[in-house]
Amino acid sequence: MSVLVMKFGGTSVATPDRIRRAAKRVGREVANGHDVIVIVSAMAGKTNELVGWVGETSPMFDAREYDAVVSSGEQVTAGLMALTLQEMDVPARSWQGWQVPLKTTSAHSTARITEIPTDNINAKFAEGMKVAVVAGFQGISPEGRITTLGRGGSDTTAVAFAAAFGAIRCDIYTDVDGVYTTDPRISAKARKLEKIAFEEMLELASLGAKVLQTRSVELAMRYKVRLRVLSSFEDNNENAGTLVCDEEDIVESNVISGVAYSRDEAKMTLISVADRPGIAAAIFGPLADAGVNVDMIVQNISEEGRTDMTFSCPTDQVSRAEKAMQGAKDAGEINFHDLVADTDVAKVSVVGIGMRSHAGVAAQMFKALRDEGINIKVITTSEIKISVLIDRKYMELAVQALHDTFGLDRAA
Ligand code: ADP
Ligand code: ASP
Ligand code: MG
Repeated sequence: MSVLVMKFGGTSVATPDRIRRAAKRVGREVANGHDVIVIVSAMAGKTNELVGWVGETSPMFDAREYDAVVSSGEQVTAGLMALTLQEMDVPARSWQGWQVPLKTTSAHSTARITEIPTDNINAKFAEGMKVAVVAGFQGISPEGRITTLGRGGSDTTAVAFAAAFGAIRCDIYTDVDGVYTTDPRISAKARKLEKIAFEEMLELASLGAKVLQTRSVELAMRYKVRLRVLSSFEDNNENAGTLVCDEEDIVESNVISGVAYSRDEAKMTLISVADRPGIAAAIFGPLADAGVNVDMIVQNISEEGRTDMTFSCPTDQVSRAEKAMQGAKDAGEINFHDLVADTDVAKVSVVGIGMRSHAGVAAQMFKALRDEGINIKVITTSEIKISVLIDRKYMELAVQALHDTFGLDRAA
């Protein structure tokens, strides 16, 4: 029997009526002869609401209880989806993460999947059950506590199930009909891609394109899962949506395949630190120990043995970074005049495997930003991406300018 994984995001299960529409799609795949594993998200907006309640109740919350609360949205939709399928005479039952059991590390709120035993669900398939509905985003730690996989984690649940069950494909149903050259909500010129390479999708996701959780792309790449993103609101044929696949399976592509953005960045500058061997280690060691995810780093020009050091990190880690730097200063490990945090910034990035063989992408990017009068604060590059930090108020303008300059509205 072939197993198909179908994942429905928050907007696709936002109401009982939407769940019914999603269930009809599942029913059609059962009629096509598949055993189906359905992964559901919480209803749209639910997880945000739960996160808000936790913050309101306990600002310095216990992450184990955070997970107990925020995982509950998926419990509701899993049960409702199973009930809806039963109403349609499709044999189905629901599983919570711990019932599978989907085993994870104990890193609460950002747990990683360690194992998905298949016997439990396969035994039910063997008995004639047609659909296993599994609550996305959640698992169980070695200590037996409920864990969650980070925001957007249901995508990762879906890909991990597809890998564990050797599924023929993992279909991610969402509120857009595929992966676009940029977020279609930001640019009307965004173009849907028929295919995108794993590596490009990985970069786009990690640079802010939330259509797929980064970890889900990593897993799909590692375990060779056929991963497709498509709309849960349109009729889909065999070739609908976007296939995330190996680079070799893409015949022609632009030098740049997409533009991503992230509002969730802050720029931190340590003013006047000693320019001496070991200073970077003395700064970034304590930041790493404090769990700050440093992204971009710039060391400014040195004058009279002192320099400014700038780095970026997620906005919600600013106070943690400040505490770590103050701690290092108090301990006499570093010395600085001031630490300035700028949270009104955004990161805009261009991604494309074509950059490996094309020179001049950076120059073209910087010219396009200059023509819009946008000042670049920090730059980082890797083999297939260039990112810049700019004032947040210019973010959408920058995305559009870059989309235009690289001609992303037209196929190669
Ligand atoms: P779901 O609830 O189904 O998981 P998400 O909101 O997590 O949906 O992800 C889908 C959203 O991702 C889209 O509505 C779109 O605004 C956003 N997005 C960002 N970048 C892209 C992109 N390059 N292509 C498609 N969607 C994108
Ligand atoms: N409901 C969770 C979230 O909003 C997980 C998901 O939808 O993927 O982050
Ligand atoms: Mg999502």
